[in-house]
Amino acid sequence: MKYSKQAYEYALNQLEERRRRSTRELELHRKEVSRAIPEISRIQQDLASTGTAVVRAVFSGAEDVPLLVEGLRLKNEQLQEQQRALLRSRGYPDNYLEEGHQCALCKDTGYVDAKPCQCLNALLQEYAYRQLNEISSIQDCTFQTFDLSFYPDTVSAGLGVSPRQKMQEVLEYCRHYAQNFDEYAPSILMLGQTGLGKTHLSLSIVNEVLKKGVPAVYGSMLNLMNRMERDKFSGGNSTDTLDHLLEAPLLVLDDLGAEFDTSFTNSIVYHIINTRISERRPVIINTNLSMSELEKKYTPRIVSRLIGNYDFLYFYGTDVRQLKKQREFRA
Ligand SMILES: [Zn+2]
Repeated sequence: MKYSKQAYEYALNQLEERRRRSTRELELHRKEVSRAIPEISRIQQDLASTGTAVVRAVFSGAEDVPLLVEGLRLKNEQLQEQQRALLRSRGYPDNYLEEGHQCALCKDTGYVDAKPCQCLNALLQEYAYRQLNEISSIQDCTFQTFDLSFYPDTVSAGLGVSPRQKMQEVLEYCRHYAQNFDEYAPSILMLGQTGLGKTHLSLSIVNEVLKKGVPAVYGSMLNLMNRMERDKFSGGNSTDTLDHLLEAPLLVLDDLGAEFDTSFTNSIVYHIINTRISERRPVIINTNLSMSELEKKYTPRIVSRLIGNYDFLYFYGTDVRQLKKQREFRA
């Protein structure tokens, strides 16, 4: 995976900040402990002097250097054990005077044996996904703010129950999906007319999944396709939108069908749906189009892939956005 220069700047800054934080923390611990356990200062001085003694021994050129060094190593271990025991006896954790790291593998340097560490890759990915995600809209949409009172409570003849009851079931499905989200989660197709809360519930799922620390990419089809067109004409630059869409642990495609109709977008849509099915990566798609409109706009091939591999969620009711406006007007 290629990442932009900005992604590297972000990731390396984050790592530097982590290292700075650990150093600051260690400094505070030292001050705190030297006040609470004055004896510990002597141990710290002794530890420092064994360090200098090792260096002196190595450069002395004496014949018994290995022996000297071994002796100092043992002394150092004893001192450290004394320090740990003292800390323990006063209720401090054993490692209170050791520098902590968020990543034990690379000690927050970002590299292990000159290769990028997994924490560096995670930061690069986080940056790339954040650039793709339309975050501002994510934050407002949660399960708590999904208001069932906008959905009619009267039994509709076609449904046999009220739209509110149907939507209660949809809401529960989505809540359960988000709570139990893992790599085996199914893909979902949300169908229904505009303004029935499809985007709201997709984003509520993204919110929950992100909170679990699982990277997720959310974008409207229109914006994502525009971005990919730009990638294509800039000669496949370093942003690699398509790779992120194929590899994100969760992908949400909002408003399928709203993008411009070209053979490029049609083939991309098929490629994304197909690749993610064969690699078993979940996708949430929502659309205002009916199944027959989807078949007409894309191909029967795409639709049959969806039918065979996605859970379908039908949204019912009357345009919530209109009702909201009316309520605000009356209030
Ligand atoms: Zn690391």
